Amino acid sequence: MPERPTELIDRFGRVIRDLRISVTPRCNYHCTYCDPLTDSHPEPRGTLSVQDVDNFVKASALLGLDAARFTGGEPLLRKELPQMMENAKNTPGVKDIALTTNGTMFRRRHKELLEAGLNRINISIDALNPSIFRQATGGGDVTQVLDAIDLALELNLHPVKLNAVAIRGINDTELVHLAKLSLERPLHVRFIEYMHLNNSDLESYNNAFLSGKAIRAMIEQELGVLEEVPTDPSSPARVFKVPNSLGSLGFINPISEPFCGACSRMRLTADRKVRPCLLTDRELDANAAFDSANPIEALIDVLLEAAHRKDRMGDLLPKIRERTMVAIGG
Ligand code: SAM
Repeated sequence: MPERPTELIDRFGRVIRDLRISVTPRCNYHCTYCDPLTDSHPEPRGTLSVQDVDNFVKASALLGLDAARFTGGEPLLRKELPQMMENAKNTPGVKDIALTTNGTMFRRRHKELLEAGLNRINISIDALNPSIFRQATGGGDVTQVLDAIDLALELNLHPVKLNAVAIRGINDTELVHLAKLSLERPLHVRFIEYMHLNNSDLESYNNAFLSGKAIRAMIEQELGVLEEVPTDPSSPARVFKVPNSLGSLGFINPISEPFCGACSRMRLTADRKVRPCLLTDRELDANAAFDSANPIEALIDVLLEAAHRKDRMGDLLPKIRERTMVAIGG
């Protein structure tokens, strides 16, 4: 029997280390750029179970993946999330357990998440103005998110990262206010270029798109020239800071400055598909592997195949996609 590789390396020599697990396609927010509300995103058939996630993390760790990020939909809608995290934390080789969340349920659930081994948190916040926030999220209450941010700082979950997708006509007037969150507290505000992952019409997408360069210019106009902070070249964000501020400003520019060359990610969707690239529709159906007599070994084969099928670059240009962001997992 050939020896199993101990690293997951794709055809282009990229080493895959980061796992993103979408534990549900449901969300209590309906951000237009993510969830166009074409249906109510019921839990799909074959939704990942705690055992599925455990098997997948174990298979991944045997192939050298060492970081697991839980996302969705809104991952805190899954009551079993802490158990999933704890299992991942106890998997040999896994060093980092992270969560991407809209923060609305963080205060209610933070104790069980910390006990389960949560290391890091990214909280999405697209506006500070309550009515702009409500509009951007389809009814959200920004005070809950601000409270989650305060709590994450109190709990020393550093680095506390905030994600804002910049959309012209929705939250462009809020970007400077969001940047100011980095001035007096160690908050890392990251501005993400809008990717065409909501099947919006082309004209609306093009009109709403704001490049990282344009966002930075808007911020520099108000807050002065930003200092660049040296970062790990494999990180998707270019990081800057307002001089003497306690936090930082990251620019994640998947469209204007794609970072596919340094991609180290593999995704698992809530309906048991392995997705090698966020921006490419190709997915591998892992149902048979999950249900097999030896799921860990079968999932290793799926992961090797998925790495082999990872494209050099994602489909950056707008196109109709099989699924929108909320169902893929961000
Ligand atoms: N519900 C969680 C949250 O709000 O963070 C996790 C899932 S959400 C899909 C993960 C991240 O993807 C969020 O920061 C969101 O802003 C980002 N996102 C969603 N749609 C996007 C798009 N079309 N372009 C860029 N980023 C997007």
